[in-house]
Amino acid sequence: MSRLPSRFWSCPVLLGMTWIVLLQPCHATAPVTNSAAFLDQTESLRTKDHPRFVQMLEQIHREAPPLTMSEQWHLRYLDAWETMFEGDYAKSEVQLHDVIDHSGDTALSTKASALLLTNLAANRRYEEAFTLANRLTIELPQIKDPLARYLLLMNLSQMLDLAGQIDLAIKYARMMESAIPPGESLCLPRSLEVAALYDGKRLASSSPELRRAIDTCVAAHQPVAANSMRFIQGSLYLDEDQPDKAMTLLDQIGPSLRINHYYPHMLSAEVERAQAYAKLGDDDGARKAALNTVAMSHPGDISEWLRSAYEVLYQVEKRQGHSAAALSYYEHYVTQDRGYLNDISARTLAYDETQQHTLVQKLETEGLSRQNSILRLQQALATKAAESSRLYIALLLVVLASIVFWLFRLSRALLRFKELSHLDGLTGIFNHQHFMTEADRALRLLEKKPGGGCLVFIDLDHFKQINDTYGHPMGDAVLRHTVAICRRQLRPTDLFGRLGGEEFGILLHECTRDQGMAIADRIRIAVETSPIEVDGSVASLSASIGLASTDIYGYELQRLCREADAALYRAKRSGRNRVVTNTESDNPAEA
Ligand code: GH3
Ligand code: MG
Ligand code: MG
Repeated sequence: MSRLPSRFWSCPVLLGMTWIVLLQPCHATAPVTNSAAFLDQTESLRTKDHPRFVQMLEQIHREAPPLTMSEQWHLRYLDAWETMFEGDYAKSEVQLHDVIDHSGDTALSTKASALLLTNLAANRRYEEAFTLANRLTIELPQIKDPLARYLLLMNLSQMLDLAGQIDLAIKYARMMESAIPPGESLCLPRSLEVAALYDGKRLASSSPELRRAIDTCVAAHQPVAANSMRFIQGSLYLDEDQPDKAMTLLDQIGPSLRINHYYPHMLSAEVERAQAYAKLGDDDGARKAALNTVAMSHPGDISEWLRSAYEVLYQVEKRQGHSAAALSYYEHYVTQDRGYLNDISARTLAYDETQQHTLVQKLETEGLSRQNSILRLQQALATKAAESSRLYIALLLVVLASIVFWLFRLSRALLRFKELSHLDGLTGIFNHQHFMTEADRALRLLEKKPGGGCLVFIDLDHFKQINDTYGHPMGDAVLRHTVAICRRQLRPTDLFGRLGGEEFGILLHECTRDQGMAIADRIRIAVETSPIEVDGSVASLSASIGLASTDIYGYELQRLCREADAALYRAKRSGRNRVVTNTESDNPAEA
């Protein structure tokens, strides 16, 4: 298995996905039948049983079972994971971007992004890493897939630890604790919390958090993680000037280290041993362990292990009086220390810059959103103003329509009033004045046409007696009855009016004297033969009628009236219930 590059040198605990149980025996595997389940199982083994994970990955590639699109992306993600694990960061980065940009699977994309965080940090591309971390932090509340969320929290915790943001790193580690996905244990979140406390110099060898993390990882069968915690404990023993305890601890975990053969731990073991020997005054032991550390490293590596190893070598040679060797080791130590400090300041600077950038973006966004709010308000105002204008116009139209309506009603009422003023209130026919006006107008027209006309005056006989005998209402009823009888004998073009009391006038259009006499006589007969019955009383009626024809008297109304009146008078005088017309010679012609 490949080694971790020396760039992974800060605290080996930081990169959780690299805690691998190595040298597990390989298992014989059944052929892939359910691809989705097979891929899930492969993923679950990536840190618990890495050799098996590799074996299963190889198997699915070898057998190449038909995969759905989402299974193909899942496999590509696992390939990217393994590529990164094997140390090919550039290739892994391309693969991860492919998954992030094209898989269309939010959970998978999140897991790939989380992994990319570690990839960037491992390559000291801190600014990119923190920019991505900021973006992922914003997306965090939307991530519902338990494993994706868990892995994202883990990587964010590591990133914040790298940036020296201890409280935030602890906060994310604790968030992991409350959302452990199936198949994972509390080992990882508790280890991350301890790592952050250690980096923040808030941990002692006796801290309960440290004990708890070791116990949790042992119980979860995560020996590498448990050993990472023990190295922290060893380092704390050394800080606390308890080198014998550190040495005992190293002796205790020796067999486990040899089994797992995890490269960062091999280095840590040698360095801590060198430091313990140095503190115990065993210069030979210290030199040997420190030189082992240098030998295990690669030329050009900058690491905390090398810094500590050269520091021990410098102290030992100085103590031994080997000035030249001491000076040489001191130079190495300074180089490593500078690299270490540079890296810390690079991380802090990148974190601060991305935070500033995010803050500026946030302020710009807020500024824009404020401007947008003003614009929206202005738009709302404009809309309201337009609505108000529309409302006013609608109101105006309603008012105008009401005015037109009322004007129309008024004109109708006036018309009706005018009509009523032309009619007799009791009988509904023309009143005297209107009858005369209309008769005059009609005569003017008749004058221009052939055919002539007749003016007929009707007076009910002994009407006073009806009033006296049956009462005034009966008299009124008789008047209406008489009007109805007359109407039945008339044409629509004939004029009919009440001249007063029980006297009526008719102007017959286009009618000769004989025709007029015939009509007048039909009216007389109709009145005579239509007695009226009201409330059990029957009253016989008759009418006297005088007629004046234009044939004889011309078209002058006054003249015709006089003649018709004279004829009526004669009809009364000669015994009533008859029609009389005057002749030119003023001889009565009685019908
Ligand atoms: P004559 O045969 O000569 O025409 O006799 P008369 O009784 O019909 O005529 P007279 O002129 O003596 O009487 C007319 C009466 O008509 C007098 C009046 O009280 C009555 N009269 C006039 N206008 C009305 C009315 O609107 N309703 C009623 N019920 N009676 C009316
Ligand atoms: Mg009369
Ligand atoms: Mg009368």
